[in-house]
Amino acid sequence: MTDRRRLRVCVRGVVQGVGFRPFVYTAAASLGLSGCVRNDSSGAIIEVEGDASGIDDFLRRLRAGPPPLAIIESVVTEQIPVVGGTAFTIADTSRSGTGRTLVSPDVAMCADCAAELRDPTNRRYRHPFVNCTNCGPRFTIIGSLPYDRATTTMAAFEMCADCGREYADPADRRFHAQPVCCPACGPQLRYLTPGHDVAHREDGLSAARALLRDGGVLAVKGVGGYHLACDARDTAAIEELRRRKRRGDKPFAVMVPDLPTARRIAHVDEPAQRLLTGPQRPIVLLPRLPDSGIADSVAPCNPDLGVMVAYAPLHVLLFGLPGDEPGPDVLVMTSGNLGGEPICYDDDAAVTRLADLADGWLMHDRAILVPCDDSVIRVVEGAELPIRRSRGYAPLPVALPVRLPPTLAVGADLKNTMAVADGRYAWLSQHIGDMDDLATLAAFDSAQRHLRTLTGVNPDVLVADAHPLYRSTHWAHRNADGRPVRTVQHHHAHIAAVMAEHGYDGSEQVVGFAFDGTGYGSDAAVWGGEVLLANYKGYQRLAQLKYVPLAGGDISVLRPYRMALAHLWAAGIAWDPDLPPVAACPPEERKVLAHQLETGLGCVPTSSMGRLFDAVSALAGVRQVVAYEAQAAIEFEGLSRGIDCGTTAYAFGIDHRGPTTLIDPAPVLQAVIRDRRADVPAGLIGARFHHAVAGLIVDIAEGERDASQTVALSGGVFQNALLLRLALKGLRNKGFEVITHRYVPPNDGGIALGQLLVGNSG
Ligand SMILES: [Zn+2]
Ligand SMILES: [Zn+2]
Repeated sequence: MTDRRRLRVCVRGVVQGVGFRPFVYTAAASLGLSGCVRNDSSGAIIEVEGDASGIDDFLRRLRAGPPPLAIIESVVTEQIPVVGGTAFTIADTSRSGTGRTLVSPDVAMCADCAAELRDPTNRRYRHPFVNCTNCGPRFTIIGSLPYDRATTTMAAFEMCADCGREYADPADRRFHAQPVCCPACGPQLRYLTPGHDVAHREDGLSAARALLRDGGVLAVKGVGGYHLACDARDTAAIEELRRRKRRGDKPFAVMVPDLPTARRIAHVDEPAQRLLTGPQRPIVLLPRLPDSGIADSVAPCNPDLGVMVAYAPLHVLLFGLPGDEPGPDVLVMTSGNLGGEPICYDDDAAVTRLADLADGWLMHDRAILVPCDDSVIRVVEGAELPIRRSRGYAPLPVALPVRLPPTLAVGADLKNTMAVADGRYAWLSQHIGDMDDLATLAAFDSAQRHLRTLTGVNPDVLVADAHPLYRSTHWAHRNADGRPVRTVQHHHAHIAAVMAEHGYDGSEQVVGFAFDGTGYGSDAAVWGGEVLLANYKGYQRLAQLKYVPLAGGDISVLRPYRMALAHLWAAGIAWDPDLPPVAACPPEERKVLAHQLETGLGCVPTSSMGRLFDAVSALAGVRQVVAYEAQAAIEFEGLSRGIDCGTTAYAFGIDHRGPTTLIDPAPVLQAVIRDRRADVPAGLIGARFHHAVAGLIVDIAEGERDASQTVALSGGVFQNALLLRLALKGLRNKGFEVITHRYVPPNDGGIALGQLLVGNSG
């Protein structure tokens, strides 16, 4: 019934010392294939096993997308007997013959299992835990190596005779699939309501679906933790969830049962389709369709919708199979947590911590060992731009351009992700979250232990952000235990991360644009609009956005009108009451703010580009107060998309006199005010502003062309697809080589990768 096969693939060419083996591993693991890779005297020998379409995909990736430094001369394949299993091993010749077995990420349900789930004649018909060697949970259920059933949370379930036969049969799709199970021997569903009435199996499932249909909030246990779900077409249900979660206007992601449903609510292009239905199945940010019927409150004022397709069999059953009483066709699916806390994954904690959030719990007895949030990806110019790299990706290794000693990089405090490295591989953890409470610190602690266990890396070196008050930095010092802790400037790490992704070995410098919200600068100012001439060893600050006083930290992030007033003050522009941010600022606050700006009391200088986007968005009348960082910029981008401003872009002032070029936003602010007073629509103001920032990038790169022809773009501001597109186009038109993020996020979730490289090149 299955066309499982195993191929030996001999690859000749320049494939050693160029990160080829981790690339092979990553490609195989992301397709749910098992096998091994090793070097021999003439190249690399790969054995790869799985279903035919997966193997075809693998061979296509091998030829189409090898690491930048690899040169493939020939690929010869030969069919060999199947061996089974779900593990992939990298034989590491430098480790005296011992191999490194690597753990796969969690893989979305494959087509074969999906067919069994729907087939009334199959013994796994409607089995919420159907999986095989090509799919199922991995990273979130494996406690230690070697990877076999005993080290997973499936150890508690003894295989029945039928499953045991499949597990032992080399011709079967479940040959040595560790989480294999069936309705007779596997985990069981349980549905709980606050009065602790319990329903089991199918009864529980239909009760959960009925709760969703009636507008309730369901806590449902997924692969990497609990989600909170409700009907995405039911405004009252969504507003209730928002209220309970104290979520402000932050967008919710939605889940759909299949691709056709995704197409009814959002614009799905070809690369997005591949992501939505592939083995990783992240949340994909897609332009929403106007008549989708999805409640506005799912993502208020947001042009995009985060969409994922059901990836676990339980999700498919929750939507219902033919014959089931139908439930909602689109579900809000948001992490089961309160505010910024880590996602709930433990059953007891889910019942207590989500007590005030959920009306019912759909749970089961397959334990989750480590939490793992959904990944978030957007597609820009046909390429993947990761926003959050987590489920489906962690712990896929990233190939390193140079060999590193065993190292742990602890990342940054916002959107924290850590990483370990050894030799030519780096492994990034799943998304941990913002390090602002004890729960997140505890999650960080256990995630780094799990990551070290699964990779076998025992760090000799720790690397942290140079921010003296970061909790991640404190953690590194506290846990150093005599090992060196090296600190790295935040924006230097951003640029190093994008260089590492692209295989740069650090021998040449790049002109790096690091634009983000905030990072600790070497002069103790808050940096964020930086142009650095950088390699891994060091950097020179070529240019910066001119400092403005940041009065109070978070308060100015959440009230863009304050940033607008600070920018006006710095530019010597009067606070006229007709300007939207001036009108939005209560007179008392205005007085205090003016005093702070005049005296410098409680102010830190900042060159943040993220804050400039906030300020301009406020001046254009788009948004004065936000519920989450970058909300103003996201709405501004949405309004500006698709608007052609011709040659009427604004222009920044550029002052070359000092050792560091100063970028002066004053002419831009003046032009925005002029346009606003002439009733120019906010979208056109936004288009002119986005073009101005892209033009600025091109101009500065041109001025530094002698230093480097390569331009690197990183930092959270480059999550802005409009800006990224304009900058790419402008730079490529001028003949620059441009490198942007493909594997790790441009935001602080990608910092750890850069820290690994910089921290080891002192
Ligand atoms: Zn499967
Ligand atoms: Zn069984």
